[in-house]
Parts: sequence; structure tokens; C-alpha cells
Amino acid sequence: MTSFTLMILSGDGIGPETMAEVRKLIGWINARGDLKIGMQDGLIGGAAIDAHGVPLGDETLERCRTVDAIMLGAVGGPKWAGAAYDKRPEAGLLKLRKELDLFANLRPAIVFDALVEASTLKAEIVKGLDILIVRELTGGVYFGEPRGIEDLGNGERRGVNTQVYTTSEIRRVGRVAFELARKRGNKVTSCEKSNVMESGLLWREEITALHKAEFADVALDHMYADNCAMQLLRNPRQFDVIVTDNLFGDILSDEAAMLTGSLGMLPSASLGAPGTPGLYEPVHGSAPDIAGQGKANPLATILSFAMCLRYSFDQGALADRIERAVHDVLNAGTRTADIMAPGCREVSTSAMGDALLGSLE
Ligand code: NAD
Repeated sequence: MTSFTLMILSGDGIGPETMAEVRKLIGWINARGDLKIGMQDGLIGGAAIDAHGVPLGDETLERCRTVDAIMLGAVGGPKWAGAAYDKRPEAGLLKLRKELDLFANLRPAIVFDALVEASTLKAEIVKGLDILIVRELTGGVYFGEPRGIEDLGNGERRGVNTQVYTTSEIRRVGRVAFELARKRGNKVTSCEKSNVMESGLLWREEITALHKAEFADVALDHMYADNCAMQLLRNPRQFDVIVTDNLFGDILSDEAAMLTGSLGMLPSASLGAPGTPGLYEPVHGSAPDIAGQGKANPLATILSFAMCLRYSFDQGALADRIERAVHDVLNAGTRTADIMAPGCREVSTSAMGDALLGSLE
């Protein structure tokens, strides 16, 4: 039997509620007998601050290094919002990404047929959309030095951030994008601003060289990031995998996400070097406004777990089956409040998890 260990960091707000549905799903997988997923639990975010005074304890971090993959619910909430930045729940998540050097952030934007009307774009533009944005996550302008705000002494101040990338930083995220494209539509669009930025020119040259050397079988396009922002609205289905830097990826992945219309449906993954545990989490936050009410949509967390099965456990067939079950449940009109539509049946978080298991059966 194949076995894996999974660290579960439920976090705050709706995190524990949506993660409970993943636990149910893991129970179902383990009961089938051909795959065994062992679960460990750890604290992160506000829950860790309350227990240990820090948003991610060293002991939890060390355990995270030893597992095969990590599932995270969500962190944050008004209770901890006033603290210094390094004492806030979000600092725990940033520390985890940094310590594990999770440099590639994967954000799929999939439009489920049953939810096509939830998009702000016309159905004929987004129907069947299935794109994957690969964002560089640990370099670029969010981390580059020098940075800061300085007083120029004449009543003026100057704010500085530095956009900086090296060959290896570009190539390792490019490699992730090309390898993923080979398992999907076999096409990569690389986005930068090489028309006005040297770091963008280097990005284009390195991606081109990597493509030529190792991935000539994959179709490659280059696009300026501003054009990509427009094309995502004009004709999003032209894309398969988009690879881009930290800043442009931050913006383009949020734009692509909104083509799908619903925050409660969006999964993500953050991957590092081979052998590093991947981190899987929904895109949404801890939703304090609905926490504890059984209203949260668990599907983003469940779809994140499907990504974990696919990318960390190499269980693509099982991931496909779970994604198909999500389609089926939605097609049957089962909805949590956030994706409710006329004629559908509104259910709680746990009833959505049960419906998914029913469909898998
Ligand atoms: P949010 O994503 O928590 O919520 C935004 C809106 O979407 C809310 O109205 C919420 O009820 C709704 N929503 C989100 N997820 C949902 C789901 N699964 N089902 C149904 N409705 C859902 O964003 P926010 O309100 O800006 O932030 C709340 C807290 O979460 C803050 O502390 C923020 O810092 C934190 N946050 C954490 C993460 C993370 O853990 N990765 C991401 C974003 C925000």
C-alpha cells in the first residue's frame, strides 16, 4: 500500500470548518485500502498566537519539514488585527513559505459549467475555462534590496523597492510551468515587461533559453504583462499555463480568479524544490463574517487537497475523480450560500462535504 503523511494546519475562522470536510474525504480514501494518508495536526495563525504567542512555532515548522505535504485552512481575524506585522497570523504563513522556499505558486482558474453565470464575463467567453497561473513567489520586487522609505531632508521622502531576478530564480519557476504544461494543454505564456524593464528582458531571455534546451516540445508565447491583463478579459481561453513574476503574478492571478466568480471555489498550491513538501490552501481567507455558522463553502479547500493528491502524492486519477465529483455535485444543484442560484438547494458546509462523498460513492 502507498502511504503518505499530511500535515494539517487548519488555522482560524472558517479554516477548521472547511478542513473538517477534507478530513472526511481522507477518511473515505483511507477506508478504500489502496492508499493510506496519515494526518498530523499543527497550529498556525491566530490559533498558534493564542497557544504559544507566535504565529508559527519552531516545533510545528520542523514537523512541516518532515511530512510529504501540508494542507492549510486560512489564517487571520479581527482578534489579532492590531498586532505588529511579525506577530500577526499572516506572518505564520509567510514564514512557512519562506522557510520551505516555496518558490512556485500555482493558481488554477477553472469555470465549472454549473457556475458559468457567476462570472462577471459573458458565459460564451468563460465557458469551459481552465487555465493555470504559475507565479514566482519568493523573489522580485516584494523582496528585492534596497527597499525602504527615506527622508531626503528637504520636505521630500522617497520610497524604494527593487525588482530583481537571477537566472536560477527564473529558470526554476519556468521549469515548473513547462512541466505542468506537458500534463495539460502543452502551452506556456510567459509574461513580463521586457519593453521597459531589464529584469523583464532577462526573464524573457532565460525562459526562451530554457525552452530551447529542455522543453522545445511545449508551445511557448511571450506576452507583456499589461497585454496579458487585457487578454484575460478579452479571450481567456487562449491560455493554458501562464508563468510570471511575483508582482505581475499577484495581480494577474487575482484577475483570472475573478473570471470564475466565486472565492469559495478557488484552490492553490505552493511548490518548492523536489523533495520539499508542497503547501496546499484555498485562496480565500478566514471569513470571520461567517465563521462558526456552517455557511462556508468547503470546495476550495477540497480542490486544494485534490491538487495535493495530484502534485505531491502523484495520484492524478484520484484527483480527477474528486474534481469530477465537484462538477457532479454542482450540476445536481447542491450549493453553499456563496454560490447559491435560483432553483438550487442551499446546504451547510458539512452537507456539501457529505454530498461530495455521496457522489464519489
Ligand atoms: P476572506 O477571503 O476571508 O473573505 C472575503 C469574503 O468572502 C467574505 O464575505 C467571506 O464571507 C467570503 N468567503 C471567503 N471564503 C468563503 C468560503 N469558503 N465560503 C463562503 N464565503 C467565503 O477575506 P477578508 O475578509 O478580506 O479577510 C479575512 C481575514 O482572512 C483577514 O484576517 C485576512 O488577513 C485573512 N486572509 C487570509 C488568507 C490566507 O489565510 N491565505 C487569505 C486572505 C485573507
